[in-house]
Amino acid sequence: MTASLRERGVRAVVLDIEGTTTPMAFVHEVLFSYARTHLEAFIRDPAHADLVQDLATQFATEHGGEAEVMGAPPWRSGDNVERLDSVITYVLWLMDRDRKSPALKTLQGYIWEIGYHAGQLRGATFADVPPALRRWRSDGLTLAIYSSGSVLAQQLIFSMTDDGDLTPLISHFFDTMVGPKRSAGSYTRIASALALGPAHILFLSDVAAELDAARAAGWQVILTVRPDHVAPNPGGYEQVTTFDALQ
Ligand SMILES: [Mg+2]
Repeated sequence: MTASLRERGVRAVVLDIEGTTTPMAFVHEVLFSYARTHLEAFIRDPAHADLVQDLATQFATEHGGEAEVMGAPPWRSGDNVERLDSVITYVLWLMDRDRKSPALKTLQGYIWEIGYHAGQLRGATFADVPPALRRWRSDGLTLAIYSSGSVLAQQLIFSMTDDGDLTPLISHFFDTMVGPKRSAGSYTRIASALALGPAHILFLSDVAAELDAARAAGWQVILTVRPDHVAPNPGGYEQVTTFDALQ
């Protein structure tokens, strides 16, 4: 039996989402496909003109960097129709590659928000996750999310689940605005935001390279191995298949 979180000195648990709290299949087959299906209607909806204008500027800037090195489709910034066409073509190109584009993450969050509020989407977690969040919270631990999905997307996943609204249990949501998930500096910035020494923070993720970065920042780390995919564990990290194991 492993030591309890209290015995390990853990005061905050920071969780990845995809492959950790939530099935990868939900993210890929439900969320990503919903965003793709509803992309064009969202972009062309006149009610979203201001939002889309902002996003188009961000995508045009990102595209400038992509086009040179990554062979992104050409960008046409002529009239409004051409610009919207360019955004849609470029976003589909990003989606095909699962690119960690901040503007794409923002756009997906907006599209999902509509889906959740329309009752077409519900947040998904593994069955052991809601009781673990409640247990850790009642033990006085601080809970936070760190995911490449936008903060809005993260809050949506946890706010409308079959177990109700889990967001009151979670005090902080971090996305890649804090830095890349495989960079130690991101974890240092999160520790500052949590106002805790790094050794008091436990990071749970299914990606060993993310654990490498968190450990380099002085965090405790545990690899999550979920039924829908076996996470490679080249560093031999401690691993769990359920949060029931983390008391
Ligand atoms: Mg993950």
